[in-house]
Amino acid sequence: MWRRIPTLMHRRPVVSATLAASAALGTGYLLYSQREALRARNPFALLGATPRAVHADAEAKPESPNAVNDRPLPFWSPPSRREMLNMLQGKTKEGQALARPEDEEFDLLVIGGGATGTGVALDAATRGLRVALVERDDFSAGTSSRSTKLVHGGVRYLEKAVWELDIGQYYLVKEALHERKTFLDIAPYLSQHLPIMIPVYKWWQLPYFWAGCKAYDMLAGSQGLESSYLLTRGKAIDAFPMLKKDQLKGALVYYD
Ligand SMILES: Cc1cc2nc3c(=O)[nH]c(=O)nc-3n(C[C@H](O)[C@H](O)[C@H](O)COP(=O)(O)OP(=O)(O)OC[C@H]3O[C@@H](n4cnc5c(N)ncnc54)[C@H](O)[C@@H]3O)c2cc1C
Repeated sequence: MWRRIPTLMHRRPVVSATLAASAALGTGYLLYSQREALRARNPFALLGATPRAVHADAEAKPESPNAVNDRPLPFWSPPSRREMLNMLQGKTKEGQALARPEDEEFDLLVIGGGATGTGVALDAATRGLRVALVERDDFSAGTSSRSTKLVHGGVRYLEKAVWELDIGQYYLVKEALHERKTFLDIAPYLSQHLPIMIPVYKWWQLPYFWAGCKAYDMLAGSQGLESSYLLTRGKAIDAFPMLKKDQLKGALVYYD
C-alpha cells in the first residue's frame, strides 16, 4: 500500500490532489478535536495566560456562586514575622488590640508552649474546648528546640529497663513503640522510618547490640518496622566511607 502511493501520485495528478486535500482535512479535524478536549479540561491552556493572571482578573469580577470553580487557588504567602508576633500577642495581624472581654472564660489553660503544651492545646481545641496557652518565651524555646526529632520507641530506655529492672521503662518503650506506629499511620507526611547504624568497635558489643535490637524488634511485635541486622566491617565502610576505621569490627542497623 505505502509503496503504491508515490506511483499513483506520479501518474495521476487528480489522485494526488485528492490525497493532499484529505490529509489536510484530516489534520485540521484532529487539531480541532484536540483543542476542544484541551479546552474542556483546562480553559486557561489555550489562552496563554498564567493561572495567577487569570485568577487576578477573576477577583475583579466575581463569578456567580453556581459557576463551576475549576480555577487554581491563589498562592499562599506566609505572614511576616512582625504579623506572626502580633498574632501571638493576641492582636490582629496589623498590631491592633483585639477587643476581648475581661471575663472571657476558657475550658483549659495550658502553661508552656513546648511539644507537650502545644500538643495538648491542639488536641483539646480540635475536641471543641476553648483553650488558652501561655508561654513565657516563644513556642518550643525550651527542651523542644533541642530534640533530635526522632519519633522512637527508645532502644536505650529498654537497656535501662533490663539493667535497672525498671518495669516503668519497659512500659514506656512499649507505649512509645505503639505511638511510633500510630504516628506513621496518621501523619505519613511528617514521619518516615529510618535505618540507624551503630558502628561497633569492640567484639563483645556485636552480640550485645544485636540482642538488644532484636529484643526491641520483638517488643514492637506487629507494629514493628524492618528487622535489625548486623553489617560486616567492609559493608559498614561501604555505607559510610568516612567512618573511623581503626578497630572497627562491624555495625548494627536498626529502624526507628
Ligand atoms: C538533646 C535532646 C534530644 C532529644 N531528642 C528527642 C527525640 O529525638 N525524640 C523525642 O521524642 N524526644 C527527644 N527529646 C526529648 C524531648 O525534646 C522532650 O521530651 C520534649 O521537648 C519536652 O517538651 P515539653 O513541652 O514537655 O518541654 P519544653 O520544650 O521545655 O517546653 C516547656 C515550655 O514551657 C515554658 N514555660 C516554663 N515555665 C513557664 C511558665 N511559668 N509560664 C509560661 N511558660 C513556661 C518554657 O518556656 C518552654 O517553652 C530530646 C531532648 C534533648 C534535650
